[in-house]
Amino acid sequence: MEKLPPKNKNDKWFKRIILGLICANFFVWLAIADGAGRKNAEVWFFDVGQGDAAFVQLPGGAQIVIDGGPGGAVLEKLGSAMPFHDRDIDWVVLSHADHDHLAGLLLVLKNYRVYNILWPGVSDGGAEDAEWERLIGDEGACVKVAAAGEKFSLGGNPEAVLEILAPDDGKRLSAKKQNELSAVVKFTYGRRSFLFTGDAESRENGFVDNAALARSDVLKVSHHGSKYSTRDGFLAKVFPAAAVISSGKNNSYGHPHQELLDLLANYDIKILRTDQNGDISFRTDGESLFVNTEK
Ligand SMILES: [Zn+2]
Repeated sequence: MEKLPPKNKNDKWFKRIILGLICANFFVWLAIADGAGRKNAEVWFFDVGQGDAAFVQLPGGAQIVIDGGPGGAVLEKLGSAMPFHDRDIDWVVLSHADHDHLAGLLLVLKNYRVYNILWPGVSDGGAEDAEWERLIGDEGACVKVAAAGEKFSLGGNPEAVLEILAPDDGKRLSAKKQNELSAVVKFTYGRRSFLFTGDAESRENGFVDNAALARSDVLKVSHHGSKYSTRDGFLAKVFPAAAVISSGKNNSYGHPHQELLDLLANYDIKILRTDQNGDISFRTDGESLFVNTEK
């Protein structure tokens, strides 16, 4: 295990240490700063093939599922990450109503009691979309339309915050496709933060304009590592220590694109990929940050 200070644009030795980390087919631990012994939050990025599915577990028991991937794998993954007797989920977030994010959430809604649901509020009206709207109507949950600027405290813990960075009302009216509507949410626990971008197109989304808001320790790379979705200026603002790419092995889109991998490398950002690393989990007490990979 190696301890590192928080990534800072002025830290000249950060680059040397991050390059020195060996990422092989076994556990990789990355520590950022010293912890104060507080209880941990966990953030998982599940390997669900070509799609996104993430899970947040807070120390007080509150849980968030962000996207469900393209099929049933998310149920198996949640079954491993959650206590077997636990059939409740506090928050379900659907970044946008595309199959590779939505399909698994239909199964989550059928198998778990969900209390809060957050989504962009707009779908294309296909069969899965209609099922989603029926299920969230039947769930008896508090259903919220994601609106930039909103902030929620999680599980009564003032250190755990979910913040919505996109979409704003203008984007909701002008979007021509689901990706542009992606709910971009930032989860913060103490001094550590994770940015979930769905398939947002960073060039167009207003949230990149607010550098202080976008700054995060871990970036879930938008749109499975498409070169069209993550731009240089966006990375400069988020300035993450680690980037997670959720994509399927040998997918037909060529995700992640080499141009994007090169861009992340230029910023000395540690790259973690579900197609290569399997399930990826982070653990933080609000100060230290550790990452663990399945492969
Ligand atoms: Zn997608």
